[in-house]
Amino acid sequence: MTSQEQPRRRRPAEADRRSSQGTEGRGNAHDEASPSANTSTTPIHEKNDSGDFTTLGLSATTLQAVDRAGYTQPTPVQSGVIPRAIAGVDVLGQAQTGTGKTASFVLPILELLTRSPGRGHGVRALVLVPTRELAVQVRDEFEKLAAGSNLRCVAVYGGKPIKAQIDKLTKNPEVVVGTPGRVLDHLSRGTLVLGILELVTLDEADRMLDIGFRPDIEKILRRCPQSRQTLLLSATVPPPVAKLATRYMRDPEILDFSTNEISVETIEQFYFTVDPTRKFALLEQLLEREQPRQAIVFCRTKRGTDKIHERLQRRRKNKKASVACIHGDLAQNVRDRVMRQFREGQIQVLVATDVVGRGIDVSGVSHIINYDIPEFCDDYVHRVGRTGRMGREGIAYTFVAPEEGTQLTRIEMRIDKLLERSEIEGFSALAPKPTATLPADQQQTGDGKGLSDSSGEAPAAPKPAPSLLGRKRGPKRFRKAL
Ligand code: AMP
Repeated sequence: MTSQEQPRRRRPAEADRRSSQGTEGRGNAHDEASPSANTSTTPIHEKNDSGDFTTLGLSATTLQAVDRAGYTQPTPVQSGVIPRAIAGVDVLGQAQTGTGKTASFVLPILELLTRSPGRGHGVRALVLVPTRELAVQVRDEFEKLAAGSNLRCVAVYGGKPIKAQIDKLTKNPEVVVGTPGRVLDHLSRGTLVLGILELVTLDEADRMLDIGFRPDIEKILRRCPQSRQTLLLSATVPPPVAKLATRYMRDPEILDFSTNEISVETIEQFYFTVDPTRKFALLEQLLEREQPRQAIVFCRTKRGTDKIHERLQRRRKNKKASVACIHGDLAQNVRDRVMRQFREGQIQVLVATDVVGRGIDVSGVSHIINYDIPEFCDDYVHRVGRTGRMGREGIAYTFVAPEEGTQLTRIEMRIDKLLERSEIEGFSALAPKPTATLPADQQQTGDGKGLSDSSGEAPAAPKPAPSLLGRKRGPKRFRKAL
């Protein structure tokens, strides 16, 4: 990395607390710190000129593992986090999924654990993640990179019989990856012991807090030895995440690799204006036109997901392409099977709720279809980020009902880009309007996007005011309020 590409390093305002904390240490007196002070670093964007793995302080053994995994060049987050983590510093890395962030903490774990033997009975490194799928994914990345060493990693998460996990834990793995609830369960049973823990990682911390894991995470952190090192990875650093870092990390160094443009650089993004009643027909037309290598169709609800899945299955049963669905109500073994088949390319179209919207890395995904426009702008970024992984090309379509124009505008403001309107030749996504209507100037227009004109043709969408969308748009206060 050149000096210009270095992430800005910072300590939080209360960084000197270690000296004032004494041995009471983490978890007590820092609730009053101003977390917002932690959110203003300059982002760096993904670049491919991050140097070489040999410059990061990794030993020959770990470098061999990197080589075996086929990684030739570190990503920016890896170049930034790995040397600091190896140096024993607590690191808060602000990075999205798809940037190589998993290896940015897995490689230091491997490096530190192979450098010295464990000091007794118990787990040496613990990784907390928000979802079962991510637990499996992190465990797989660990196994890929640890191949050839005798380090073992066990994933523990809910929805699976606890007995099999207990059996694996009795074999003394050095590393455990788990969801907070299940980790806590094992701690209370005594099947997981953190007495000699050297390193704890919180992956996707913002998501874990969104889900409501804060109390569980705090209970777990309070049971970790004071001397441990803490790494925290998060796509965003809202005040609750900053507060967690303040309370439980030791003088953390903050490295910001975030970028709003994750979904902009390699992903083409379009929207369709469509009446809710025409959405399924549009989906079929779109799949027919695009013939995606692999697509994820995102729906807002579990019921909606099931419905679209069933209809697609019925309509596409004569086609070779397979369709599946995944959401939180499905049994864990079904979710695991679906994810495995999707990863292996046996499933072409996956209908999903946002449960797979975060963290899941399937490199073959060429198309994202937002059948329901996401409620939150961040979910849009995470959904769309399922394609275009590691710089590959991807395409995303969002279905927008006439009354959902405001949501589309918010998304455009969030990603700082106007989506292009798409249409399918010969297909009308808007039902013809009844003739006896109010005078044009009295019609309900929402924010004006997506209304059909009297010919039944969708009009060109009015664009949001450039002052809101340009780089120097609007006051920051206003943007944050969104
Ligand atoms: P992540 O952001 O951790 O979900 O990683 C996204 C994908 O990139 C995973 O499939 C990783 O195996 C892969 N990956 C991570 N680091 C590298 C690298 N340095 N070079 C190539 N691929 C990588």
